[in-house]
Order: sequence, then C-alpha cells, then structure tokens
Amino acid sequence: MSPAAELRPLLSDATGEMVLAPPGWAAVGQSGSRAVEPRGWIPLPAGTTLMHLPDRPGLGRHRSGEVAPIFGSHPWAVAAVLPVGYLRLLLPAHQRLPGAAVLPLYGYAAVADRRGEVVVAAQRSDDFSPWMGARPSRPQLAAAVAEVQRRLHRSRVIAQLTVCALQHNCLTAQNTFLGRDEGALPTSAACNADCLGCISLQTDSGAPTPQPRIPRAPTGEDLIAVGSQHLERAAAVGQAGMVSFGQGCEGEPLLRERALIAVVAELRARHPAATIHINTNGSRPRALERLMAAGVNSCRISVFSFEQRLFQAYYRPRGYRIQEVLESCRTARSMGAQLTVNLLTFPGVTDIPEEVERTISTLADLEVDQLQLRSLNVDPLWLLSRLPELPPGIGLATVVEALRTRLPRVSLGNFTRPLSVPV
Ligand code: SF4
Repeated sequence: MSPAAELRPLLSDATGEMVLAPPGWAAVGQSGSRAVEPRGWIPLPAGTTLMHLPDRPGLGRHRSGEVAPIFGSHPWAVAAVLPVGYLRLLLPAHQRLPGAAVLPLYGYAAVADRRGEVVVAAQRSDDFSPWMGARPSRPQLAAAVAEVQRRLHRSRVIAQLTVCALQHNCLTAQNTFLGRDEGALPTSAACNADCLGCISLQTDSGAPTPQPRIPRAPTGEDLIAVGSQHLERAAAVGQAGMVSFGQGCEGEPLLRERALIAVVAELRARHPAATIHINTNGSRPRALERLMAAGVNSCRISVFSFEQRLFQAYYRPRGYRIQEVLESCRTARSMGAQLTVNLLTFPGVTDIPEEVERTISTLADLEVDQLQLRSLNVDPLWLLSRLPELPPGIGLATVVEALRTRLPRVSLGNFTRPLSVPV
C-alpha cells in the first residue's frame, strides 16, 4: 500500500458525527482550488479542534484514480483548526454547494485517518513559552479580571478586554489582567481597510466575527492607566514588560495617531525599558514614524501579498497601496525598531512560485527581524472566489524551507518577542 493510500478521508454528517470514508477512497489535500497529493502529516497537536464543513462535500481519490466527492450518509468534509504555534500546510479537500453560507473565520486544515490515528497537514512554527505554555485556570483568570475591574472600573479598555479574555480566550487580553508578558491595548474602532479575513468586522460575507470590534475608541488617559498598570505589574515579577496596540478586536491603530503619541510618550517616560509594540496594516508610514519617535520600539506589519493586485483584492484598502506598507517597513527599519512581518499564509496563494520569489526578495530588501507565518483564517473557497486565477503552488513546507535557507538572518516564528533593552 502506498503512503498516500494509507490515508483515509474523514467525513461528517450534519450533526458533526465523523466517520471514515468507505474502502476504496484515499485522502487528498487541497491547495487553492486544486486537489493535491497529501504530504506533511503530523498527529493532531494538543488543542486542535475538528470541525465539519456543512454543505461542503468532502473529496477523495477513488481507487479508479479519479478525485471526486464521496457521497453517502456522511457527505461533508472535515477540517482541523490548529492551536497557535502550528502552520497549516494544506486545505481540506472539498467543494461548496451553491448557496452554502460562508464559513466562520478559522484556519481550516486538511485531516485524514492514518491507521486509526487522525493526522493533520501542518508543521510546528513556534514554541515561544509565554504563548505555548500552561495558562491559568478559569477561576484564577476570573479572579484576576475581577481584581483589575475593581481598580479600573470606569475603563472602556478593561470593559472590552474582559469580554476578550473571558469569552474569546484572547491571550494578550488575559495577560493584561494577569500582569505578565504581552498586554493588549485596543485603541481604534475604525479602519482604512476591509480585509476579507478581518476577525473584528465582516462587511459583506455574513460570517460571524470571532473578536467583535471595540465599539468606541478609548481615551488616551484610559490607555495610559491600563498600559501602566500592566507594565508596573510585569516589572514586579522581573519582566521589562510589553504592551501592544493593534489587537484582533479593533480596527487600525495608526488612525489614532494623535491620541497615541501622547499615550506612548507617557508610557515610555514611566517605563523606559518596556517594549511598546504596534500591530498594524502599515498604511500610514508618517504616522508610524511619529509614534516611533514618541517611543514605540517594535512593530508587526501584516501582509497577505507584496503584489498590488493580490494586496488590493484581500485588503480592499481605502487611500493607500502596497507602496505605503513597504514604506512603513522601511520607516521602522530606519527608526531602529524591531520589525516583524506577519505573513497571512494560504496554500495556493503564498506558495505560487512568483509569490515566493517576491516575498523572499522583499523581506531581504526590508531586512526584517522576524517573519511570522500565520494560517489565514477564512472560508477557503469564498476567499478564492474573490481572488484572481492563480497558478499551482509549490507547497508551504517548501516555502518554509526556502525562507530558512535564503533568509538566514530572518527568524521565523508566530509570536512577537519582547525587546530586552530600551531602544
Ligand atoms: S487592517 Fe486589520 S482591522 Fe483593518 S480590516 Fe484588515 S484585519 Fe480588520
């Protein structure tokens, strides 16, 4: 039996009951809209969730050699949603029935059964302990939230982070209550983009948003109070401390430049050794420059593609282009800040040969410190319906290998590291 034939598709019915495909079917993966031979399988990491994809027939390779839907009592495809620190390599092989609702925003990965064990097309992409280590129990977390709420009971930031920490399991929001590691400071209710995969606001897909956007922008005083209490408590346990603007539950922090300059200057004056970080779409290089002059010393700029056509299709930006994003990267470099790029990966887009070459040469030119490889959370076939036709990919595992070999000075990971010295 060939290794591929040992992999049996998993299928589900509408209730989520999962079964093995009948004999005669072998599992395939998907890259873009193409079925591909499966590769790069690992046992399900702890924390993985299996999901069925309603109204999406699962595909397999029949012993006749044909790739086709496996119809029966359990017709729907099954996917894995990986925990943080793992990179999806292949999409689940599936079709979408006409009229099917857009799927919620998760990073759907291919799964199969291998001799009785469920495996997923993925690889480890980071093991940074603050993100991968043990978390507090629910009662401990609830007590920490209640304690900060008592001290900052009027804070709009704390009201937002309470929901994020307790209902949406956001780790940076939890950190703000625990007084350790990277603490969240959501700042902006508005954005100048309309990303297809935005997790805080979906304008036209109908998909639910996993981290609903902060309804009103908090004041500068509120941000200073929450940021300072986090950094003081981090210092008390021996950490230099880290706070970050640009969370999953907000819009674009650069749009709040005026308020944030005062916030950053105050936090920097009180906490000279802290990492003051911004996650951004990089749309406003001059605003980023002014924030860095005030004391921001680390940034992460998210990129779907460095090519204008794909960039435009995904971000649907208002008033900026990929040139401004590149300029923001250069600004961060020239200001001496930590520069990380968050590459939103998608099998069949990130790994098409011209994308790989463009990404590698751009990252080399920008001299980024770290490349974060994230699986883009979105309904795969819905995303593809919004993008131009693309040629076949070479596989994300091959891309990771090329990045390692050709960009030896760029560290690869998932999580931003705090700086150990003031910048
Ligand atoms: S840039 Fe960020 S906040 Fe704005 S639409 Fe995209 S994902 Fe959402």
